[in-house]
Amino acid sequence: MAITVVGSVAYDTIETPAGRRERCLGGAATHFSLAASFFTDVRVIAVVGEDFGPRQEAVFKARNIDTRGIEHTAGKSFFWEGSYLENLNEAKTHNTELNVFASFEPKIPEAYRDSEFLFLANIDPVLQKRVRDAMPDVKLVAGDTMNYWIKDHRAALELVLKGLDILLINDTEARMIAGNDNLVQAARAVMALGPKHLVVKHGEYGATLFHCDTPVGELANWRLNLEPKTFRAPALPLENVVDPTGAGDSFAGGFFGYLASQKELTADAFRRAMFYGSTMGSFACERFGTERIAKLTREEIDARFDEFRRLTHLD
Ligand code: AMP
Repeated sequence: MAITVVGSVAYDTIETPAGRRERCLGGAATHFSLAASFFTDVRVIAVVGEDFGPRQEAVFKARNIDTRGIEHTAGKSFFWEGSYLENLNEAKTHNTELNVFASFEPKIPEAYRDSEFLFLANIDPVLQKRVRDAMPDVKLVAGDTMNYWIKDHRAALELVLKGLDILLINDTEARMIAGNDNLVQAARAVMALGPKHLVVKHGEYGATLFHCDTPVGELANWRLNLEPKTFRAPALPLENVVDPTGAGDSFAGGFFGYLASQKELTADAFRRAMFYGSTMGSFACERFGTERIAKLTREEIDARFDEFRRLTHLD
């Protein structure tokens, strides 16, 4: 099953206790597609400026990611600057420049139209909705967002949430959307806005999956048996966290990429997907930006998945 993803393709300036990097390749769609590319075919929709060249394109190409939907236009690419000096679990945003994304009109290449899975990575919810509406035939839609959009673009975001099968957000975002500090109550309130499945990420403490009573709609050939309703996967205790940027998107890429590689969306598949998400998120933290995942191998992924099994196994 191929995944089409829309989201930011960006330059990031990042500061963590391990150091500082200026303008490294980043963006939610970038981190997501690199991680998902280990599991299935990935197609990207985004816009970049004149500062995005063959060296950046090569990072996608090396993972066989379809970049025909990345539009090149006059101006500067999306830019984000953030730090993790006080809290490694949550970025402090210093600067967000939408640049070419401010006037982006997403166009879906003909070759993307048969994608079964759609991921609405973090970007203006108006753009997420436009891409969702332009791909009515997809079978499963997942998405992400962040405080920036929750605070000031609430109405547009609610329209996106209504059409989601799966929402992946971190716990601060879940509490912010719900206006409720209790995780379970917040999850219930977020799901009342639309998503049938909710993954709440807790940074270094793992992630929780909530299913609601209604299964995902018409999915030919997929058996849907989604008990139990709540499941928690840990994060790998890492000795050195170099840069958490992109860990959430890499989690989403591992999670959704793994689901897209499955014939049946069973509860077991969702649970394994949580562990593949955690696996990809843990790699993302080991180097700055995309450095670690861009060079990863399938063998390393399998070995880490086994490490997760050992971490949580109980006789
Ligand atoms: P995360 O996986 O949550 O750490 O996402 C990090 C990525 O999100 C960075 O590479 C940023 O370029 C990107 N990003 C930051 N702010 C925004 C925003 N407001 N909209 C879209 N993407 C963003």
